Amino acid sequence: MNIIFIAPPAAGKGTQSSLLVEKYGLAHISTGDLLREEVASGSEFGKMLNEQMSKGMLVSDEVVLNLLRNRLMKDDVTNGFILDGYPRNLTQADMLDNMLSELNMKIDHVLYLDMDKELAMHRALGRISCPKCGKSYNKYEEVMKPKVDGKCDDCHEDLISRSDDNEESFNTRFDTYLDNTQPLLNYYKEKNLLNVIDNSGTPEETFDKIKEVII
Ligand code: AMP
Repeated sequence: MNIIFIAPPAAGKGTQSSLLVEKYGLAHISTGDLLREEVASGSEFGKMLNEQMSKGMLVSDEVVLNLLRNRLMKDDVTNGFILDGYPRNLTQADMLDNMLSELNMKIDHVLYLDMDKELAMHRALGRISCPKCGKSYNKYEEVMKPKVDGKCDDCHEDLISRSDDNEESFNTRFDTYLDNTQPLLNYYKEKNLLNVIDNSGTPEETFDKIKEVII
């Protein structure tokens, strides 16, 4: 089972992906995480990426495609995978179709997490995550707060905010999402792959809705 998530920034794609990984053993492929790994390596290339990412801009289609191609070559994708953050525009959707047919793979479900801008902004500004295991929390939402303030429940590491989870960068990311990513809804609707999931409730409520459509 191969899945694509489409959602506004900070909608909780990462959290839903972790729940899917746990239940179905899928590989979680986040292009944002792949890019942040490059940034963390401290290379010149990573520094260039960081400049664009911290402003909330998309990085080049070719760069992301190469990272994704390498990731899809790994053994753990044979049980199925979740694409979190890819494709982000119609060009990437076309590139993905070509690459998947070369690799003899296909997408089974496209899940659109539907929510309004205010709620997405609220989630972005409250989002904190563990630098070690990547688990995501939210300091403003009761059900997503860590047990101990500022510490990961599992690793006990100090939780951190992403540099692009500020109001200015969120607004740029949201505009980019409206202009570039929302047109993908029609693209996948025409291919009969699109499922619209109401994402205004708790992560568990969203996950229950996801399970209903992918079974
Ligand atoms: P995310 O973790 O999905 O919110 O992505 C963080 C940032 O990484 C985005 O704001 C973009 O700068 C970059 N990024 C992630 N995925 C892509 C993609 N598919 N295409 C271009 N840029 C991306």
